[in-house]
Amino acid sequence: MRKILFLLISAISCAGFSQVNYNEYFTSKRYRFDYFISGTQKTAVIVTDKIHEEPIWGGQQKNLIDTFEYGDFLLKIYDIATEKLIFSYGYSDLFIEWQTIAEAKSITKTYHECVTFPAPIAPVRLEINKRNDSLVFKKIFETIIDPKSIYIQREEPPVTENKKLNDAGIPSNCIDIVFISEGYTQLQKEKFFEAADKFRNYLFSWEPYHSFINKFNITAVFVPSPDEGTDIPGDNIWKTTLLNTHFYTFGIDRYLTLPDLCEVYDWLAAYPADQVCVLVNTEKYGGGGVYNFYNIFAAGNPKDEFLLLHEFGHGFACLGDEYNDSKVAYEYFGNKNMEPFWPNITTLVDFKSKWADMLNDTVPVPTPNSTAYGDVVGVFEGANYVSKGFYRPMQDCAMRSFKNKRFCPVCVRSIQRMIQFRTDK
Ligand SMILES: [Zn+2]
Repeated sequence: MRKILFLLISAISCAGFSQVNYNEYFTSKRYRFDYFISGTQKTAVIVTDKIHEEPIWGGQQKNLIDTFEYGDFLLKIYDIATEKLIFSYGYSDLFIEWQTIAEAKSITKTYHECVTFPAPIAPVRLEINKRNDSLVFKKIFETIIDPKSIYIQREEPPVTENKKLNDAGIPSNCIDIVFISEGYTQLQKEKFFEAADKFRNYLFSWEPYHSFINKFNITAVFVPSPDEGTDIPGDNIWKTTLLNTHFYTFGIDRYLTLPDLCEVYDWLAAYPADQVCVLVNTEKYGGGGVYNFYNIFAAGNPKDEFLLLHEFGHGFACLGDEYNDSKVAYEYFGNKNMEPFWPNITTLVDFKSKWADMLNDTVPVPTPNSTAYGDVVGVFEGANYVSKGFYRPMQDCAMRSFKNKRFCPVCVRSIQRMIQFRTDK
């Protein structure tokens, strides 16, 4: 009886997490689909730009279907012959953030973005799904991609100088992080490699990354910029740099971003790149991290250790901001009557799906912001830039402030789960 039950459970698990056999559907190369996303506060239209074939798919060859489904978008790749879903991943972008600022009520704007996936053997259908007002993914774009097409761009990737800073093994079994230079001149090459090495050491000095050092490959890629530094529009400072990064995104002085993700990937065509980190040669405080999109930080600010860990938390594990006391440009913070997708933020609508299992029985929900609960996992009101309706797991965490130089246990677990999923063999 026990054996029958075991077989039944195995059959159910197989049905729930049907694995895709990588070699049946994909080659060892990578495809990059470039597109424009345009719209207003309420509309979003995607238009095809071009498709590139690049030498190496460095992402995982197992767990090809994303079971987290975090983020605002979900890329899905279907094998056309069988209509089988063979690859997916969730991500966010800057366009979605722009939609929540005042300007989006009156003008239309376009962003240039890309998604990457393993190169298919046979024709596939690429779908981009976006969350609707009820947070349900709805298809907003689809296109057919035939690997035999003569219009898939197959140029040799640019040759760039690089240094391997952490070598954990073959790319498909590891998380491949690329640090790329921005605002470093040719004469500042060594300054960039020193900054990259410093960031590598920061990452592995924090848990849970320290315990998983053998799961990360890190490569620093140097491409010179004509000018050093970056644009600071609020101070009328303008620099000619490789990736055209700038502060004052959406009018916020510390929000450092770049306008065109495809330009970044153009330089990284030769590299496995699960997570892209842009190191900006500036002493001004600032950065940004967008889930499965990019991470960017000021590499010369005294708080740059915090910037790396905090922004990489957004970009890699889809952690939400646990603070509620900083100026932001957003006018819409999400519906308090729906559970958001960030693993470390809850509205208590579906708290069981978050960290309810990590709460001690004696901790009240919500938990008072008092010294009695100063260092325990609870449910503290104030997160996601607002003081009411959104809750965080601990009074302090690196997703809230730099005070204690650590992640709360909920963020640690979320990062661990992502590492394990992405490096499962
Ligand atoms: Zn946290």
